[in-house]
Amino acid sequence: MHELSLNEAKRVGRKMKVHQGPRIADLPQLAEHSELQRDIRVVSSVLPFKINDYVIDELIDWSRVPDDPIFRLTFPHRDMLTERDFDSVASAIDAGAPAKDVNAAVDEVRWRLNPHPSGQLEKNVPKQNGEALNGLQHKYRETVLYFPAQGQTCHSYCGYCFRWAQFVGIKELKQQSKDIETLLSYLQGAPTVTDVLVTGGDPLIMKTAKLANILDSLVEAKLPNLQSIRLGTKALSFWPYRFLTDPDADDLLRLFERTVDAGMHVALMAHFSHPRELETAAVEEAIRRVRSTGVVIRTQAPLVRHVNDDGAVWAEMWDKQVRLGCVPYYMFVERDTGSKQYFELPLVQALRVYSEAIEKCSGLARTARGPSMSASPGKVVVDGESVVAGERVLNLRFLQARNPHWVGRPFYAAYDPRATWLDGLRPAFGEKRFFFEEDAVDDWRQLERDDDLSRFVG
Ligand SMILES: *Cc1c(COP(=O)(O)O)cnc(C)c1O
Ligand code: SF4
Repeated sequence: MHELSLNEAKRVGRKMKVHQGPRIADLPQLAEHSELQRDIRVVSSVLPFKINDYVIDELIDWSRVPDDPIFRLTFPHRDMLTERDFDSVASAIDAGAPAKDVNAAVDEVRWRLNPHPSGQLEKNVPKQNGEALNGLQHKYRETVLYFPAQGQTCHSYCGYCFRWAQFVGIKELKQQSKDIETLLSYLQGAPTVTDVLVTGGDPLIMKTAKLANILDSLVEAKLPNLQSIRLGTKALSFWPYRFLTDPDADDLLRLFERTVDAGMHVALMAHFSHPRELETAAVEEAIRRVRSTGVVIRTQAPLVRHVNDDGAVWAEMWDKQVRLGCVPYYMFVERDTGSKQYFELPLVQALRVYSEAIEKCSGLARTARGPSMSASPGKVVVDGESVVAGERVLNLRFLQARNPHWVGRPFYAAYDPRATWLDGLRPAFGEKRFFFEEDAVDDWRQLERDDDLSRFVG
């Protein structure tokens, strides 16, 4: 690791250099790991990888490769593919097959990797005059997600990203919006919305001028109910120079300041996977600068094997975040897509990691909720396990739900040491279905309509 001092970085005007696709196998740092190079070449033909020189030089400890957690987070590993998928792509590459045959093998494997998790597209894209609004998602009553077209990539990629399909350009799966007007016009007719979450990819990959168009337009629209703008980003961990030395870094901070001054709550939903990402001089200074604008940094990450599957790691991360003035927010369960089998953990193990972490932390770090699954009916947290009426059960609860009346209501699943997701759990007490599966109202829009109707009738 060679950490650049801030003064050095400012002096040289640090520019981001990225390494992408199978060519990452040729990085000089990997020259001593020839056994890894072929694996990297094969896996990165199927799944998207992109790593910048800050991650390579300042976050990865090359003396600990391949087990270094940031290396595991950002570099390909053979086990990210099943043996059969790995071999089918490897044999095409090894045989020096023509590009079209390699691509055919690659495409076949990609489609087996579940590129659309949780029925996202069909159910969550809102409509206006019968037409789907591409680039928006409105699953929970208060919050609209906005995917600006220019923000659909990241400064580096996480191996576990559930957006991998759009990074490899499976076109039908791209969800993005080219104009802010669609968002504004939708919000004008959506009085329940208090929060807009700008997401991607990573919206901070955009130039400040582009981001300013979004934030300034939201402010100028004077939407009476809009109170918060959130930006989902991993820039603080993957490229803190975005806030320090990029040519428009100061403009970004001024944009944050004026959005806060206009009365918005602005939250950076910062993705941190490991305490290592909080240790460099660059990230500490970036956090300090962001906070000085009045923007609140809330932190979240999925719990993944090989990277952060240890309570002590989360405790250290949350404590460090609190010390730096960030607010721990969510610990997610890894989603059902891509190289899930490589990163996933059983829910009961996720619960153990969460519990071990939370008991070690100060109360100020216990704002972190989890382990939470972003499942089709809502965000479901595993609260614990208990024995009820002689049966061993998992205690579950909605943190967010399509039907807001479900939020907070405890429910129980039969204890299952292997289940990794909600759809792998069965209801406890011999019941056939979970309570929410029996509710005829499974969307907040229905509640709004029912309320309208009762107002009309009354
Ligand atoms: C997580 C999430 C949100 C935000 O939920 P909060 O609990 O308010 O952070 C909004 N929309 C979708 C689709 C989400 O997955
Ligand atoms: S930063 Fe977020 S969107 Fe980008 S690769 Fe990582 S998980 Fe995916």
